[in-house]
Amino acid sequence: MATTKQKRKPLPRNQAEQLVAGDLSNLSDKFLFCRDLRHNWHVESNFHDAGFEVEGDGVTQAVERIIVCRNCGTRRTDVSVVVERPNLAPRMEKLSTAYKYPKGYLMHRGQIPRDIGVSQLVRYETLRRVLAETSAS
Ligand SMILES: [Zn+2]
Repeated sequence: MATTKQKRKPLPRNQAEQLVAGDLSNLSDKFLFCRDLRHNWHVESNFHDAGFEVEGDGVTQAVERIIVCRNCGTRRTDVSVVVERPNLAPRMEKLSTAYKYPKGYLMHRGQIPRDIGVSQLVRYETLRRVLAETSAS
């Protein structure tokens, strides 16, 4: 079975140049690391009652879990419901995910952290810094 990898259009050059010349080149190494390789999560507060009721077929509880990035301090709160029906395996359905980013993490022109065009530029900026470091030594 063939897998289809979604092709994304690269950012227009002028938009990319603005990003690299501005926010991206000023991004700290640790923020750049997280944008390139994703966050290094650890559980700050494991699943606990979310403190509200949710109606739904088989829904027994709403729970919340808070995780924090060891590298940059980004904080993520996941809210899920527990679904338990007779004769079916129990499961959890995510209701929401909220991120709280440290100051300076979000770039002015790249507000969406997972924007694929920005991700490509992040990797390119990482390469540029590595090359600058190795040629300087
Ligand atoms: Zn991080």
